[in-house]
Amino acid sequence: MAGKLLPMVDDAPEQPQAGRTRRDFLLAGVRTGSVVAAGGLLTILAKAPAAAGTVWQIDPDKCTQCGLCATNCVLQPSAVKCVHTYAMCGYCKLCFGLLKDKRTGNTLSVENSRCPTDAIKRVFVEDPYYEMHIEENLCIGCGICVKGCTRFGNGSMYLQIRHDRCVNCNECGIARACPAGAISRVSVKTPYKLKTRRA
Ligand code: SF4
Ligand code: SF4
Ligand code: SF4
Repeated sequence: MAGKLLPMVDDAPEQPQAGRTRRDFLLAGVRTGSVVAAGGLLTILAKAPAAAGTVWQIDPDKCTQCGLCATNCVLQPSAVKCVHTYAMCGYCKLCFGLLKDKRTGNTLSVENSRCPTDAIKRVFVEDPYYEMHIEENLCIGCGICVKGCTRFGNGSMYLQIRHDRCVNCNECGIARACPAGAISRVSVKTPYKLKTRRA
């Protein structure tokens, strides 16, 4: 646990990477992923004029996990993914981001999981601690886990627009629909709004 001091995200869904690599990517902010590069439509969208030097991002402190991030992105699955700040996480055995608060038995079975796509993997660290990994290729950005973690846990899970996927639409469909006004343009130099441990 001592080494888990920085936020991590799964930026390369095809092959899980070590924390430093994922952190480096997160801070670097922009990378053309194979998912984005694959489609002609995406290439066209990427050419849409956008405010120079800016990209769209979610303010996790404003987001209410309404679910529209999963459905209002021009991409399917959405460019919005759950990310995890390990420095805030309690490494709970019964993670409320992963597990429903009312469970049948005490198992990790699908019926007890909040995630509709099985994108959260629980990895044993040491008794009684577990580390949650988000598999971004499976995540649809629904925010259900974020709501559970925010309500019952430390709030270490939250939603971010991932810039290896987002095509930086001139007008972000999610920003237009967001009831919380949580999405705005930010500088490409600071493309993520990371949570930090609160005192
Ligand atoms: S639309 Fe806004 S409030 Fe809803 S999940 Fe996305 S960022 Fe959060
Ligand atoms: S519950 Fe939704 S936001 Fe959370 S990991 Fe699963 S698909 Fe992603
Ligand atoms: S700008 Fe918004 S709608 Fe467009 S790809 Fe990015 S997150 Fe999706």
